[in-house]
Amino acid sequence: MYLKQIEQLVVLQKVDDEIVILQDELKRAPLQISELEKRRQEIEESAEIVRDKLKYLTDQQKRLESEIETDSVRLKKSKSKMMMVGNTKEYHAMMREMDNLEKQNRGREEEKITVAEELARQNLELKTIDERSGGLGVELAAARQSLDERIAVAKARLTELEARRAEAGQAVPKPILQRYEFIRSRLKNPVIVPVNAGICSGCHISIPPQSFIELQKGVQILSCPNCQRLIYWSDHIAPEPTPETEETTAE
Ligand SMILES: [Zn+2]
Repeated sequence: MYLKQIEQLVVLQKVDDEIVILQDELKRAPLQISELEKRRQEIEESAEIVRDKLKYLTDQQKRLESEIETDSVRLKKSKSKMMMVGNTKEYHAMMREMDNLEKQNRGREEEKITVAEELARQNLELKTIDERSGGLGVELAAARQSLDERIAVAKARLTELEARRAEAGQAVPKPILQRYEFIRSRLKNPVIVPVNAGICSGCHISIPPQSFIELQKGVQILSCPNCQRLIYWSDHIAPEPTPETEETTAE
């Protein structure tokens, strides 16, 4: 009778172990999606920064081109005016102005090269970011698609486990089942643990020798005095019990 109860409690524990894993899976699955969404959001933001840079650089490029154009026109005008200049003083003034215009345009040409190089760099960066964003989009779509399936599978399995749970619970007297549920609601899984060589495998603390003797007798279901978990002697239950084979050992 005692062994049968212990064995059913161990079955219950195994079912609950799986339930804990499944519930964790159900909780985590949507988190993976939001994690991916967050990463995509971050990538989108960095793409936006690069696009802003590109816009700024393109504006710079246009400004330089128009300034170069304007000053080129001024230079041409000055050149043709030079022909008509009468005195030396005016001539020198115009020469200085033309020198200045040419110097400024040379500086702008250099700047244009720098801007063009930076534009190429940023375009490459944007391409890399877009590729990453695309890859992440594919990953996200796949994750979303499988999420519903995973949830459905996990929920179906949970229903199955609830049934097995109820079945295992029937073999256990109500007060003990209530104790089991009470511990389950208060302590971290597991609820029922083997005692191996006098040590509770729930809290890894040895139980008093008298309790261990009681436990080995196998008359009533005991709790660990330290962690309050239900305990059984490891020799009473085979390491991997299944309800069918345990049926015979219970007699
Ligand atoms: Zn303990």
